[in-house]
Amino acid sequence: MNKLPPKSDTPLATPVQFVKGVGPALAKKLAKLNIFTVEDLFYLIPARYIDRRKIDSIAEVPAGKERTVVGFIASAGVAFLSGKGKQVFEVVVHDKSGKISAKWFHFNLTFMRRQFQVGQKVLLAGDVMAFRGGKQFFHPEVEFLDKGPDQKMESAGKILAVYPLTEGLYPKTMRKIIRNAWDSFGTFLRPSLPLSFLEKYGLADPWESIALLHFPASDIDVDLLNSRRSQAHRTLIFDEFFFLELGLALKKSKMVRELGVAFPFSSGMEQKFCATLPFELTASQKKVLAEIKGDMEKPYPMNRLLQGDVGSGKTVVALSACLQAIANGYQAVIMAPTEILAEQHFHTFSTLLKPLGIPCGFLTSSVKGKDREKFFKLCGEGELPLVVGTHALIQDDVTFRKLGLVVIDEQHRFGVLQRQALHKKGVTPDVLVMTATPIPRTLALTAYGDLDISVIDELPKGRKPIATRLYGEKQREKVYDGMRMELKKGHQIFVVYPLIEESEKLDLKNATEMSEELKQIFEPEFTVSLLHGRLPVPQKEAVMNDFRANKINILTATSVVEVGVDCPNATVMVVEHAERFGLSQLHQLRGRVGRSTHQSYCILLADYRQSEEAKQRLSIMVESCDGFRIAEEDLAIRGPGEFLGTRQAGQPDFKVANLARDLDILSLARTAAFALIEQDPDLTRPEHQAFKKILRSRWKGKLELVQI
Ligand code: ADP
Ligand code: MG
Repeated sequence: MNKLPPKSDTPLATPVQFVKGVGPALAKKLAKLNIFTVEDLFYLIPARYIDRRKIDSIAEVPAGKERTVVGFIASAGVAFLSGKGKQVFEVVVHDKSGKISAKWFHFNLTFMRRQFQVGQKVLLAGDVMAFRGGKQFFHPEVEFLDKGPDQKMESAGKILAVYPLTEGLYPKTMRKIIRNAWDSFGTFLRPSLPLSFLEKYGLADPWESIALLHFPASDIDVDLLNSRRSQAHRTLIFDEFFFLELGLALKKSKMVRELGVAFPFSSGMEQKFCATLPFELTASQKKVLAEIKGDMEKPYPMNRLLQGDVGSGKTVVALSACLQAIANGYQAVIMAPTEILAEQHFHTFSTLLKPLGIPCGFLTSSVKGKDREKFFKLCGEGELPLVVGTHALIQDDVTFRKLGLVVIDEQHRFGVLQRQALHKKGVTPDVLVMTATPIPRTLALTAYGDLDISVIDELPKGRKPIATRLYGEKQREKVYDGMRMELKKGHQIFVVYPLIEESEKLDLKNATEMSEELKQIFEPEFTVSLLHGRLPVPQKEAVMNDFRANKINILTATSVVEVGVDCPNATVMVVEHAERFGLSQLHQLRGRVGRSTHQSYCILLADYRQSEEAKQRLSIMVESCDGFRIAEEDLAIRGPGEFLGTRQAGQPDFKVANLARDLDILSLARTAAFALIEQDPDLTRPEHQAFKKILRSRWKGKLELVQI
């Protein structure tokens, strides 16, 4: 027997164990579905619906999915599966039109005999199989229509919810406990949003929506339910998005009203910079630069996200923004996610800034001793207008004289918190966040929803799509032949491995070993070198410099080259064990080539039979070079938490909404939330107090909080 639930003023927080019919054992199973409270149970939105409104006549029931018949038991007992001598439990059911049989391979004889008695009226539902001219069910769902005490649970004529299940939890059980929970606690679920507000957006009452999704009325459109596009679904999705966006809108409106630094546009500096570039900026680069510099001119802190596909030229845009701060006597910082990338940015910037006479500083955790002290001193005195480094730059002992702009080249690795730490270094510096590969629009509006967004949507002129091919181990020789042809043209090659040392279980080719093999094959005609994360920094630098200088023809590497490495003469990217990499990673890796007007190639060597998901990923890579499309697919495959790498503070869990699917509703919720904050920037009006209260409870602990 269940104990009585503890008294509480928040009945919806009652542990699920106290719902009638649950108890400790079932509660454990529910916990596997992340259901701990009554409220969790209510928000367990059915995965799909079964239509039991249509009862087929037995003679005419077609073979196929999810058919329902109703009839009387003609016989029930053990039978032998024809020919094989295997025992089954067989129940024959008839209606006026004919007979059909149902078979169970796994059964408890005593139990089955007790259950199925001749003459009883039953409902059978499941997939109908055609078999030797006859039709049958295997392991159908059964309902005894004339004996169940619980008439409410009868399914004939209804639309039934099917819940996400876990082992040992049956569809009928789930339906029953949700019904019980609803009967005892349903009245405590209060509508969150005012009705007048909901109506404005074509939505329904959230409370009624939840009821409807669990217990659909029999006149409802099942297809809409199954595609999660019913008004009830839309309402709950909107409700989730709305409060997230309201928080973001509030945060953003506060930021906008903070005092920042105005950096008047310096056309002199921009002209000088463009003159040093070996190319002209693309129209898209110019457009985003205008957006960024427009922000910088204003006396409020900039908070902007710069998106662009791999190779679209985000780096020069960032540098040009830095120069606007520098021209006004401020310092600018560029932070990269890895040492190799920081080093490369430093290299690029020093070269580009030399003609302008602007010194550039460098700091990572491996800058030590005297060099480190010297850096601290110069940076603190403002002698370094531009500083490049890794997250070492946000450690407490780094000081700036006048920090004006922070650029974060992010690769999803710097969370919101680090962004804040940097904030503390300057008065309120302008912040520009760059993504390494595009992120789906829904994520841009949620995880980065408090930022303004600029998108570079074209590649520099003359770039050719990277020819991407998938090969198996047997075609390795062919791959080597192709590599040799490119090498003979004077081009360079990356070969990337997922691991640096052999793992115990998996027979992965490791980079060190393969580097030796490639040496055997390609040297002395061509040079092969190895780069991996555990090399000491000076050695890494030396290898990268040699590669850039075309002294190394083939660079074998672990995925350290994934982010940002720029060597336009490289035209081939070979990825070993490509099935082990995620989509964004593969797209990043591929982005290391195709950075010039030469035709480039990406060779995915993979055991693609390993998993359905890997196969799916690899075929998307072969099909498309469009980072925006790949990002959408990646989000759909992996979900938002995984997509962003480490789960960021600020990355919410949604109960009903789905970021890969619900962009339309998200946009609506965002518009609604931002409009509300525009009218009432601090939510002080009496009619908005209800919003404020819910906002507080929804954002609790999950996001870096807006102080209201
Ligand atoms: P990403 O956006 O991936 O960071 P990069 O900034 O590294 O791309 O730029 C990729 C390459 O394209 C670099 O070699 C860069 O010098 C070059 N590049 C950038 N802008 C242009 C342009 N407008 N025309 C030609 N090449 C460009
Ligand atoms: Mg880059």
